[in-house]
Amino acid sequence: MNVDCIFCKIVNGIIPTKKIYEDDDVIAFNDIKPMAKVHFMIVPKMHVESLKDCDAAHQVLLGKMLLLGSKLAKEQGLAGFKTLINTGREGGQEVFHLHIHVFGGGLPGAKQ
Ligand code: AMP
Ligand code: ZN
Repeated sequence: MNVDCIFCKIVNGIIPTKKIYEDDDVIAFNDIKPMAKVHFMIVPKMHVESLKDCDAAHQVLLGKMLLLGSKLAKEQGLAGFKTLINTGREGGQEVFHLHIHVFGGGLPGAKQ
């Protein structure tokens, strides 16, 4: 755990959140500032700063995160959805603990 990391605090129950999924490797929870009707995040329990800090050792974890995003999106009734990984400050990342955003059910400007 990184003591200065918001998502590590969520993983360890120090900051409360609306969890929608949890297992030994990952958690998923709703974004505190949703940008769509459905907006949740898939987060590994281990602290990894960003996608650029991943290597072959993270391959299975990354695949698991992506498939979980799809499974949870379908469970939430989404016929289609958007996934996003912001990487590094220049890539729009604000929380430096790897996460995949999943959006659906009405993005700003979407025709639905
Ligand atoms: P990013 O710009 O990809 O690093 O996104 C970080 C996301 O984390 C933002 O969409 C924030 O709204 C979200 N966030 C920050 N703090 C919390 C929190 N305590 N619970 C849920 N989501 C959070
Ligand atoms: Zn962390």
